[in-house]
Amino acid sequence: MKYEVVIGLEIHVQIKTRTKMFTAAPYVYGAPPNTLTDAVVLGLPGSLPVLNHTAIEQCTKLGLMLNCEIAKECKWDRKNYFYPDSPKNYQLTQNEEPLCAGGKLEIELPGPSRNIEGEHRWVALNRIHLEEDPGKLTHGPFETTIDFNRAGVPLAEIVTEPDLFSSTEAVAFLNCLRNAIVYAGISDCDMEKGQMRCDANVSLRVSGSEKLGTRSEMKNLNSISNVKAAIEYEVLRQTEILEQGGSIVQETRRWDVESAQSFSLRSKEDAHDYRYFPDPDLMPVQMDSSRVAELKAELPERPLDKQRRYQKDLGLPFTITSVICVNRDLSEFFENALKTYYAPKQIANYIANDLLRELSSVSDYGESAHCVRQSMLTPSHIAILAKIIDEGVISKQIGKEVFVEMFQTGLMPDLIVERKGLSQSDDISEIESLCRQAISGNVKAVSQYKEGNEKALNALKGPVMKATKGKANPKILDQILKKLIDAQ
Ligand code: ADP
Ligand code: MG
Repeated sequence: MKYEVVIGLEIHVQIKTRTKMFTAAPYVYGAPPNTLTDAVVLGLPGSLPVLNHTAIEQCTKLGLMLNCEIAKECKWDRKNYFYPDSPKNYQLTQNEEPLCAGGKLEIELPGPSRNIEGEHRWVALNRIHLEEDPGKLTHGPFETTIDFNRAGVPLAEIVTEPDLFSSTEAVAFLNCLRNAIVYAGISDCDMEKGQMRCDANVSLRVSGSEKLGTRSEMKNLNSISNVKAAIEYEVLRQTEILEQGGSIVQETRRWDVESAQSFSLRSKEDAHDYRYFPDPDLMPVQMDSSRVAELKAELPERPLDKQRRYQKDLGLPFTITSVICVNRDLSEFFENALKTYYAPKQIANYIANDLLRELSSVSDYGESAHCVRQSMLTPSHIAILAKIIDEGVISKQIGKEVFVEMFQTGLMPDLIVERKGLSQSDDISEIESLCRQAISGNVKAVSQYKEGNEKALNALKGPVMKATKGKANPKILDQILKKLIDAQ
């Protein structure tokens, strides 16, 4: 029997706010345990929640970014459960009336190779709602510790339809989702810091069948590679069961990174197990449609739209746009450079190649593109470098050298060229005498050139460039060589 894989993801994203969802207690990552709490966070008797409006606005922006319908009114429900990570014994969430309904995200699937653009497709979303994070339990060999710092931090839960059909698609979805969220400034989505966590629901069905199979749910996957591994493991496990004539039990499973296996945690709870009911302490939120329209107008261009625009309007290749457009800082850097000097191809090349290479050489963690703001290099550095190369002040080759120097010192390229005497030599008599030497030193290349082999000229240019340390103006050098040989 041939099976088709069906996947639905639930992604929790920590919304960037200064304070928690229902109280003024601050949140910062990495604070000593239990220092960011107050009566509301700890659920002490008599404490009352007060809504954080930034969380509502940020989640609205997220919904708009993901093409959702924004509700006119949303409200808060208590999800009741007894577990040590929840001091109140309920979690405030939106069960019946979420802030955002429906929605879709465009994803780009990997191409046949890194240099070739893959297919694009839209993935349907079910909803996005707000809820508060519980505290964090850490299980040691002899005891479990509880940290309530994270309790009450606003989370947006993005729920997809069962509209992903392989682990590759799930990975592409998560990457595109993360790019879109970081672009809109809603969250940094740093999975290592728990700012983005994913539950993966996986089921199989006989190919061609419309009916969904029974799913299992893998909880709290904290890296994209874990999501991939957990889905692939689950597909194999379910295939094996079905092929042996068994049936899948609907359950919640835990992915164990160490052993690369998942284990059954519990049979899946149903919504009625949680005894959801409207929170009596919080008013429903009326959404102001004019404010929603304002937020919509503030949204940044979506990364894949930007990529298309760069390819179509600026003529940039996919290999370059795929690097620049995934990062908003880089693409803003690029667009600012164009305002100083309009040379899209050269500037994009410098950013995608030279700038990223230099940034990665000074950053310890792979996220090099993120530190462009901290770099001493500004968009005008690169714009002016491209300009003085176009003007023939320096050669492209010297440009590479100047790039490294300006990255390290923050000096403007024209200043570096002046201080180090790097400008191209237009000194015709010097170039001419070096050309004569080159011609007499390589009779073979000269005769090859005379026989019509243009490339043979390079063998003569080499020594001249070497003698001038790359500063001979290539155009002048070319003209002089040809003139001298033709006159022979
Ligand atoms: P719950 O209330 O248990 O969280 P939902 O109906 O809200 O369940 O669905 C949760 C997630 O599971 C959604 O992302 C949804 O797309 C996905 N899902 C539901 N049924 C299936 C299935 N049969 N196979 C794969 N994913 C599924
Ligand atoms: Mg769920």
